[in-house]
Amino acid sequence: MRLVILGCGGFIGSHLLDRLLVDDRFEIDGWDPDVRKIEAHLNNPRLRLRRSTIRAPGALEDIEAAIARADVVLNLAAICNPADYNKRPLAVINANLFDLHPIIELCSAHRRWLISFSTSEVYGRTIASYLPANKYDDPALYELREDDTPLIMGPIRNQRWTYACAKQMTERLIYAHHAEHEMPFTIIRPLNFFGPKMDYIPGRDGEGVPRVLACFMTALMDGKPLQLVDGGQARRTIISIHEAIDAIMLMLERPEKAQNNIFNIGNRNNEVTMAELADAMRRTYAVITGSPRYNDHPIVHVSALDFYGTGYEDCDRRMPDTSKAERLLGWRPKRPLSEVLLETMTYYHQHYARDERTHGLQP
Ligand code: NAD
Ligand code: UDP
Repeated sequence: MRLVILGCGGFIGSHLLDRLLVDDRFEIDGWDPDVRKIEAHLNNPRLRLRRSTIRAPGALEDIEAAIARADVVLNLAAICNPADYNKRPLAVINANLFDLHPIIELCSAHRRWLISFSTSEVYGRTIASYLPANKYDDPALYELREDDTPLIMGPIRNQRWTYACAKQMTERLIYAHHAEHEMPFTIIRPLNFFGPKMDYIPGRDGEGVPRVLACFMTALMDGKPLQLVDGGQARRTIISIHEAIDAIMLMLERPEKAQNNIFNIGNRNNEVTMAELADAMRRTYAVITGSPRYNDHPIVHVSALDFYGTGYEDCDRRMPDTSKAERLLGWRPKRPLSEVLLETMTYYHQHYARDERTHGLQP
């Protein structure tokens, strides 16, 4: 099977390559300017990597030739960090919509199966979040179902929704090419994949505000308080990256089931508020370091305005219905949050933690 993978050097791409490249059925044409997470694969003869963006001069011609040879095109290329959505809205809209438009057209022209990574943020906020009281009593008002749930976003001035809106338009373009030109497609809506190699640690191998896992990890390793945005009551479901990759592999193995469908990929049993996640992470770090003082590591409150700037608005709850993936792919995630955190945080500790004495955290 020949695959084109755009954005193959990121968090999900790196784990996907780990899985695909141990199996000699797969040949890959990959694009990503950042190869730090996939260095182990750079000499693999079954990976033909272009260290460039899909916007680089001449890249589209090269991509078209690869698409013409390919069985499947996977798109992972994106700007997908919430700290960017309200601060760099044009870059976010371009990366998640306009840069992908020519790729979708090429897949359509060559009738190639496009597997595109969207986001659970296309659902936006739940209906329940707009109701006054007891809002989460009725699952019909908050559960996210791929083919029925309406997609609700906040006002334009809340630029948090640039990402969700661009992703939604990309989904609609893909669906339109399927409807008008019979392009086979699969849309994946990921719900908070956690695992080694996610994002970066500010001050070590990147700058800025990464996603919540790396934010909390940085605070723990640097001896700074974990910051809870707007009370930490937003809820997320967290899934192991390995079980998410299992789902992608099942899609590749069962094209007749996967094609022309949208799938939520998440673990509904691992739901936490961000306040609960912060507490779970400090307790897990106490176990990893053998230092009980982390059980009481400081947690502080911060407003979204101070943390992200103007135009941030949060998704309140993301409870996926994953019965379609279970029914069609035979996929059901099982790893509990405790296990996901232990594996992920051990990786970060081993790769990034500095000598704790420099932070006054020695037990
Ligand atoms: P990531 O940021 O780790 O990886 C994205 C990769 O795309 C990066 O390596 C980046 O260098 C590359 N890239 C960006 N623009 C590019 C371009 N123009 N040309 C080529 N490469 C480019 O993100 P990720 O977590 O691996 O996410 C992958 C996909 O899944 C994205 O589409 C994202 O929106 C979606 N997603 C992920 C999650 C999650 O939990 N990780 C949640 C929701 C959606
Ligand atoms: N968050 C937080 N503290 C941080 C970073 C993020 O409380 O240091 C919150 C953020 O406001 C959101 C949740 O954690 O409610 C998840 O944020 P993330 O950046 O991981 O992305 P999202 O799940 O929204 O895509």
